[in-house]
Amino acid sequence: PDCERLFARLAAGLARPPELAALARGLLDAERLAEQLRAAAPHDAPDDAPSDDATGAALHALAERMSPAPEAARALAAALVDGPQSDYGGGVLRPGVDAAFDAAAARRTAALERLAALEETLRGETGIAGLKLGYHRTWGYHLEVTRGRLDAVPDGWERRQSLRGAERFSEPRLRALADEIEAAERELIEAERGRVEALAAGLAAQADRIRACAGALARLDAAAGLADLAAERDWRRPRLEAEPRLEITAGRHPIVEAALGASGFVPNDAALAADGAGAPQLLLLTGPNMSGKSTYLRQTALIVILAQAGCFVPAERARIGLVDRIFARVGAQDDLAAGRSTFLVEMLETARLLHGAGERSLVLLDEIGRGTSTWDGLAIAQAVAERLAAGERGPRTLFATHFQELTALAGSVERIANAAVAAEEDGRGGLRFLHRVAPGAADRSWGVQVAAMAGLPPDVLERAAQLLAALEGGAAQSGARSGAELDAVLDLPPPRVAAASPEAQLTAELSAELVDELAALDVDGLTPLEAISALYALREQARLTAAGAPETAPAIPAAVQPPLEWAAAGG
Ligand code: ATP
Repeated sequence: PDCERLFARLAAGLARPPELAALARGLLDAERLAEQLRAAAPHDAPDDAPSDDATGAALHALAERMSPAPEAARALAAALVDGPQSDYGGGVLRPGVDAAFDAAAARRTAALERLAALEETLRGETGIAGLKLGYHRTWGYHLEVTRGRLDAVPDGWERRQSLRGAERFSEPRLRALADEIEAAERELIEAERGRVEALAAGLAAQADRIRACAGALARLDAAAGLADLAAERDWRRPRLEAEPRLEITAGRHPIVEAALGASGFVPNDAALAADGAGAPQLLLLTGPNMSGKSTYLRQTALIVILAQAGCFVPAERARIGLVDRIFARVGAQDDLAAGRSTFLVEMLETARLLHGAGERSLVLLDEIGRGTSTWDGLAIAQAVAERLAAGERGPRTLFATHFQELTALAGSVERIANAAVAAEEDGRGGLRFLHRVAPGAADRSWGVQVAAMAGLPPDVLERAAQLLAALEGGAAQSGARSGAELDAVLDLPPPRVAAASPEAQLTAELSAELVDELAALDVDGLTPLEAISALYALREQARLTAAGAPETAPAIPAAVQPPLEWAAAGG
């Protein structure tokens, strides 16, 4: 159980008997656990594994805090019945623990036996065979007689309650016995409560030991959780060092890997050094959208965090020079309510990291400068990279960017190197992502291909490809701004207006048909089920239209079945 919480309830005088029992049992279990720890944790470490020695010592230290259990816990556990009642009344204390409690319990039992005998006696005396002894929470014990036998009720009986088919009475001997039972019960509750409270007070006096034990259990629980995770996912023990370097072999992103399955994730190495010796201080990472740049940045930071939290890491090998702070400029999120645009948020975070990052820090920059015009963005990104790589030593930095121009920095600044996440054409106009990080700059950007995979209309893609070719040809520097100006400068054909081909024409007709169908829909006249069916049918037609014109225009099916889970939910 959560010993810390239970102890807090005990200390506040709020613990009910079941909670007391749980706490006492928990402390005794901790004692047994400590024995197992002592037996399992190595005392003498092998020569080549100094950290096993530390682990053994740490486990022994935890065991020390967990045992022996306070005597008060043993006494309480021995005094309480298994699964005690929440309220006092005989269902909490074991017999043999408290003489006053036992005596009161015996008196109550004897009085209850005499009560049962009295019922028999009264049946004989009155001749009322159906006479029933009963108990009512407000009225106490009574004798119940059906209406047909009221003539046999003796004179001295006192009417207590009238029901539809019966009357309830009391009687002097019954009253005397009831008083006796009540008195025995009061004594019993008092003795039971008194004894349990005394035992609980004894346990509450052991505050320090119980807190120490609860803390040790919590540490052990956390360590066991991390150990389980490490064993289950094949994580390895990292090596932590003072020198500000970073060397990860076959690192993985714990969450993306869990989502994809171990075989679906491509592990990657990482190497950085604050002084640039043997590894870059700043790695410029290029590669297409969707290739895995952000994943690589984040997995590196996660491995560092896990390692410094004392956990094994998702990598084959990891040597981590202690990191004092991690600065991350990843993801773009505006804060409109606070008057901050996306770009402003990006710049505020960049300013913070430039001011705060030292030679022991880890810096992640994911596409800075994309929130503004290309040239502003590129200029800012380059200035930030140069600044991070200035000086004798700098923060270990991973810098993902789509600005190809930045890759030239690797040639001019010693501590900057390029790496790219590989992708290749799949032969069908699309891209195959390899998710493999390799030295060198990406040779191109593939943005248009990724846009195509996302379903941008073909005419837009075609136009984008033309413009890209023109821009890459150096036209951007000519000062031309509008598309028409670009076309003129570059001698490009004007943008093609769709609907020239027969396929496009058919698609347009189908779209018009879809609009007509929608306009004709009698929404008010539909049941919810019909409405959802119509919606599915319209979506089906819209998808067919988007996918290109079929040979013949599809009619909306009479009824499209809603999906199973929807139907099962009852609509
Ligand atoms: P963008 O430039 O568009 O932001 P990105 O290059 O940063 O893209 P990520 O967001 O890191 O790309 O990754 C895209 C997807 O690729 C992830 O959601 C993940 O499913 C997959 N992925 C990334 N890295 C790996 C990897 N090493 N192995 C397998 N799959 C990966």
